[in-house]
Amino acid sequence: MHEQIASHLRSKGLTVQTATQDEPENGLTTERLANTDVLLWWGHMAHDQVKDETVERVYQRVMGGMGLIVLHSAHFSRIFRRLMGTTCNLKWREIGEKERLWVVNPGHPIAAGLGEYFELEHEEMYGELFDIPAPDELVLVSWFAGGDIFRSGCCFYRGMGKIFYFRPGHETYPTYHNPDVLKVLYNSVMWAAPCAGPTVTFGHRPEPLEK
Ligand code: ZN
Repeated sequence: MHEQIASHLRSKGLTVQTATQDEPENGLTTERLANTDVLLWWGHMAHDQVKDETVERVYQRVMGGMGLIVLHSAHFSRIFRRLMGTTCNLKWREIGEKERLWVVNPGHPIAAGLGEYFELEHEEMYGELFDIPAPDELVLVSWFAGGDIFRSGCCFYRGMGKIFYFRPGHETYPTYHNPDVLKVLYNSVMWAAPCAGPTVTFGHRPEPLEK
């Protein structure tokens, strides 16, 4: 899946590298993170095997302005739970039901090029309550054939960093081949990328600007 996502983003002109957690330092060295504008994170069964130091390094980079796209079951990743401060728990069911994702913020950059909704014929269900803080911006809400709903596209601002949680992406479905899903991935990377804002300072400011 990581190479499928990477190859799509490369086809759109972005420079993309992939990392897996079996690599030294979980593939996310200080140098590599320093050269990363936006990090996409997919994880499922082995969240607890991600090292403390890796979580801390990624956390500090997000605070400093790196974008973070949290995909599907990475809702339980240590970095996402750290950034949210809540359990990030949810309901789930794996019977391949239909998902319809409604755009609830059509003016948002992440919704560019989408219709009013798009559908995935088979996906794992994630249902509310999703135990996250209220998103700063909500872009997508899912309906599932079984009756559950879910906040599927959620934006958060933490420090100088922008975070987007995007729900679809169960490993047994071809979700990351869907054209609308790929649009959301590209749009979210562009949205979360750092902008050339001012360098911020904190602390004691003894000299007022006006005399
Ligand atoms: Zn899944």
